[in-house]
Amino acid sequence: MHELPVTESILEIVVKHAKQNQVSRVVSITLEVGELSDLENEWLQHYFDYLSKDTLAAGAELKIQRAPIVLKCRKCGHEFRIQKDELGLTDCPQCGTAGDVSLVSGRQYHIKEMEAV
Ligand SMILES: [Zn+2]
Repeated sequence: MHELPVTESILEIVVKHAKQNQVSRVVSITLEVGELSDLENEWLQHYFDYLSKDTLAAGAELKIQRAPIVLKCRKCGHEFRIQKDELGLTDCPQCGTAGDVSLVSGRQYHIKEMEAV
């Protein structure tokens, strides 16, 4: 259940940002969550509803977008996207090196957009 601390930090940023911009209410928050992250949309919204009750962001809708998985070949430096179910098959499409890759993107989460009134 690591959605709880994640949601807490998201809410913290959102509220801080909302205060700085003197908005009266946050309507929606667009989150970008890496394809490899196991954060569940329903839990994020559930915790968010619970934690945001007495804040400017109470009742805000979380819009969750999945960001693609990007790998980088350690040999030639080529970056390429893969699907989650292709993870075991990570041959570099450029030089053909098998399995010598690092993860560039796929586990991160960040706030992409905020809609407020
Ligand atoms: Zn390569």
